[in-house]
Amino acid sequence: FRCGHRFVWHRSKSTGLPGAKERTLVAVKPDGVQRRLVGQVIQRFEQRGFKLVGLKMLQVSEDLLSEHYCQLRQKPFYPNLVHYMTSGPVVVMVWEGHNVVQTSRTMVGHTNPTEAQAGTIRGDFSVHVSRNVVHASDSLEGAQREIQLWFQAKDLLDWDCCDQASTSE
Ligand code: ADP
Repeated sequence: FRCGHRFVWHRSKSTGLPGAKERTLVAVKPDGVQRRLVGQVIQRFEQRGFKLVGLKMLQVSEDLLSEHYCQLRQKPFYPNLVHYMTSGPVVVMVWEGHNVVQTSRTMVGHTNPTEAQAGTIRGDFSVHVSRNVVHASDSLEGAQREIQLWFQAKDLLDWDCCDQASTSE
């Protein structure tokens, strides 16, 4: 520490962690809404330390779904998937935080609940692949594409958590 010089930590305003601004899309699918699991899904993401930056409930159109699941359109289960996903409202969210894309996938668990570990959302709340409660983006690129598809930029809020604000200023 030299006299006359102030040393300042340079870090991102909100958390200071690299990659802390990463975002992902998570949705509670119609079966999760029907079964009143929205609160429990939100609680797990809050508890883990992620920040909610967007949230809405909507009845999904087939057009939106076919964009969202564009890589699955040729799959034999696609018609059933459309029927399932349009059977009632979904709650869709954007979560932000360090490595949120990968961590969300771990929290959600294997696509097929039979193989999902206990402690994951699918492992705790579901038994069948065609009623697996939640969606989470599977890659950084996928997350960016899905967030743009489901949300307008103005509906995502950039806010500072009081418990993670920089203390150096
Ligand atoms: P994930 O949702 O884990 O990213 P996929 O992108 O492969 O998995 O599949 C999207 C969704 O399609 C799954 O979450 C599930 O609801 C449905 N699905 C996937 N595979 C099957 C299947 N074999 N039979 C019925 N539905 C399926």
